[in-house]
Amino acid sequence: MKCPYCGSTESEVVETRTSEDVDTIRRRRECLKCKKRFTTYERIENVNLVVIKKDGKREQFDRDKLKSGIIRSSEKTAVSMEDIEKIVTEIERELRGGESVEVESKKVGQMVAVKLKKIDKVAYIRFASVFKRFVDIEDFQEEVKRLIK
Ligand SMILES: [Zn+2]
Repeated sequence: MKCPYCGSTESEVVETRTSEDVDTIRRRRECLKCKKRFTTYERIENVNLVVIKKDGKREQFDRDKLKSGIIRSSEKTAVSMEDIEKIVTEIERELRGGESVEVESKKVGQMVAVKLKKIDKVAYIRFASVFKRFVDIEDFQEEVKRLIK
């Protein structure tokens, strides 16, 4: 980080703030040489998240794909677009905050299932039936039984 006044690369962070855009960090820095202050914006680099599919193939994490899967399961349920957007954002954040840049598709599915279950049982059942391999099958059967009763 070069000082815009004197060009020195030695600076210290005096303040760090996350801006509205969660991916951007605003830092106030003070140049150690000329003592002037300046602001930098750092963008958290979009780490490429890799999803490992059941067959072992790897593909780039696709937010839109995840979203459309949830939308399909949530048609005519109490799950709103806002809920879906929130689920996707939370999952993406959790994944990016994780230790590995690689994640099994099963894990992603489980995360969605857990979140859907809290909002709407029907959407959860639908999601689970499409992505059966993603969920604990016994738990799933229990849910279905409860719904049918
Ligand atoms: Zn300077």
